[in-house]
Parts: sequence; structure tokens; C-alpha cells
Amino acid sequence: MSDDDMSWSARTLAAQAMGRIDEATRALVPPLHVTTTFLRDADNSYSSGNIYGRADNQTVREGEAIVAALEGAPSALLFGSGMSASIALLLSLGAGAHVVAPKVMYWSLRNWLVKEAPSHGLSVHLVDATDLAAIAAAVRPGQTKLVWLETPSNPLWSLSDIAGAAAIARDAGARLAVDSTCATPVFTRPLALGADVVMHSATKYLNGHSDVIAGALAFARDADAVRVREIRAAHGMILGPFEAYLLIRGMRTLDLRVRACATNAFELARRLSNHGAVSEVLYPGLAHHPGHALAARQMRGGFGGMLSIRLRAGEAAAIACAANVKLWKRATSLGGVESLIEHRASIEGPGSPCPPDLLRLSAGVEDVEDLWRDLDAALNPFAPQSGEKVARSAG
Ligand code: PLP
Repeated sequence: MSDDDMSWSARTLAAQAMGRIDEATRALVPPLHVTTTFLRDADNSYSSGNIYGRADNQTVREGEAIVAALEGAPSALLFGSGMSASIALLLSLGAGAHVVAPKVMYWSLRNWLVKEAPSHGLSVHLVDATDLAAIAAAVRPGQTKLVWLETPSNPLWSLSDIAGAAAIARDAGARLAVDSTCATPVFTRPLALGADVVMHSATKYLNGHSDVIAGALAFARDADAVRVREIRAAHGMILGPFEAYLLIRGMRTLDLRVRACATNAFELARRLSNHGAVSEVLYPGLAHHPGHALAARQMRGGFGGMLSIRLRAGEAAAIACAANVKLWKRATSLGGVESLIEHRASIEGPGSPCPPDLLRLSAGVEDVEDLWRDLDAALNPFAPQSGEKVARSAG
């Protein structure tokens, strides 16, 4: 699409992969660029601007343009994983920087912040990121370079106030970065709420088919991408062209997939709220969820495809319930078209804030009646007998 057409919505731009065609053949799907190196001109220059594949790849750039459009960003960068995207941003802060991050967040990045970040000269303060006062108390004006949020956050799906945290970060001279993997650009646009950087594990909803590991950063200002791009090239944290091609294909249907996942998640959350085996349903769309009011303000059009349930009968029952399913797939990760169930504490290990009786559910796009039938049957052995139920409701 020409620059004049950039008023099209992000959904339209992604569906047409920015409307790019291959001028040489008029193909609607641009070619996959696999070259690792580029021809140098006879005058010893590189007039194409492309030198070597670790820094330069056209398919990757085309994927970046779509991520930028989805997030309303002037520029975006793709990485070999969500972890490398996050770490490139954190390394760009430089030694001596102070970082404020949530206690409840994607466990592997929390582990990196606690165990690895200090050896890179970063100091990290973990806070209750649902509480703006806690964030405000943790920032050190002049020293805090980054406030990190994840909303809704893994695996409790708590909400953080992006606009409120952006104001706190700005006043302290810090940047605000938001892991928006689970909100997706369909439901939340963090940059429009004042964030400086958005991070996606593109492995999840952006790609959506459980066949690519990838990460993305979208920047509110081009200048903020410069140092991160240098770190990506120097450390080789790149996305391969074939993965970029698959990601572009996946993003064409992002809007449809994410809305279907969220519709299924909401319906399952409602039904699970009345299941005898379940003590608590964690889903921001439910009115009793502590983050519901904020989610209703901050997320537009849906509450996402992720939910968690806690089992009355405890940890062993949760593990046994996950073993009972036939249709849901017992696996880690999220955001694909197929529904996944996971006993989350088993993967997060000791020190995790995840309750041991929790099952994390990634709702896919299957028929919700099939998903419910399978889950209900897997849970039923752990529901109190009808006599017990009567006794409880009578008491
Ligand atoms: N952020 C969130 C919310 C995630 O769920 C994950 C992976 O599960 C990551 C970041 C890390 O992404 P990746 O696995 O692509 O490195």
C-alpha cells in the first residue's frame, strides 16, 4: 500500500501483509528472502544498503512493518524469541541502570532479571505491579531507566494500569515497556496509552500456530530502536527469514484468531465459575476479577484468550485433571489455534508465585462445546458429590 493509504486499520494492513506485492512478478505474496549476503558494488559501496544477513533481511523487515502497524509504532524489530527481544531492550539500558518489574510476570524473564541481570550491571526491583503506588515507591528518579509491565500477567491474569505507570515512569525519567503478548494488539495498544516500548513473544498470538519461536519490540520513537538494533546485530539475536515468513502469514489472521480465542475463553470462564471442582476462575472478563474494572477500561473489545482455574481438591487433583483431558493438549506455551492446558507450578518451579492448585488454560479456536465437554469430563472426578454440595450450600 502506498503511504497515502496508511489510514487503513491495523487489521486491514495485517490481513494484506501491508499490501506488498512482488513488483518483478506481480505476486501477491512477496518472496522469501533467504540470502545471507549481498553483492558489493564495483565502486566498493553497498548501494542497496544491504550487507550481511545478520543485520539485513527483507522478509524480516516486512514482518517488522506489520508489527509496527499493529502497534501504531513508527518502528519495530523482530528477534529470535520473546526472551531475546526483552533481553536486548534490557541490555540497551547500560550498566548502572535500575529496572522496576512485576513480581507476577512470565517466569523465565523474571528469573533472568533476578539471576542474570546483575551480572550485566542492572539492578532490579520487583513490585506488585497491580498497585501504582508500589510502582511509584520503587522508581528512583534519574537511576530507574525502565519500568516493565506485563498485562494481563502470567499466570494469574492480573491487570496493570499502563497509562498510570507511563506517567510515573515519565516523571522519573524512565521508559515504560509493556509485555503485551497476552493482550495482543487486537485488544490493547500500549503505545497509545503512553508506553514507550511494546514487547511480544511473537511465538504466541502474533504467529498463532505453535510453529515459530519469535519476539518483537515496537517503539514509540525511532531513536529508541537504534541501540537495540545494534545489540541485536552484535549478539546475533535475529529471527531467521523462514520464521519471519511464517510469522507474516500468521499475522494475516491475527484479528480473527484472537477474537475467536477470547470468545471461547470468556464462555469457558463463565461455565467454569459454576463448576463444583473449581474454587476460583482467574479471567479479567469476569466481574469479580480484581482487575476487571481496569481491564474493561484498558482492553478494547475483549479480555483475551488466557484464563486459569484453581482446583478445590489441590495440586494432585490439578495434575490429574490435566492428565484426564482428551481434546485439550497438555503442553506449555499459549496463543495458538489449539487449546492448551498446563499445571503451571510444575514448570515455574520453586519460588514461583503460582499457586500449586492452578491450571493455566490457553483457549484455542475449536468449537467451544467440544472444549467444554472435554474439560467438564476431566474436572468431574474432582467435584464434590451432590450430597457434599448440598451440605456446603446449606451451611
Ligand atoms: N512473555 C510472555 C507473556 C510469555 O508467555 C513468553 C513465553 O512463554 C515470553 C514472554 C517469552 O517468549 P519466548 O518463549 O518467545 O522467548
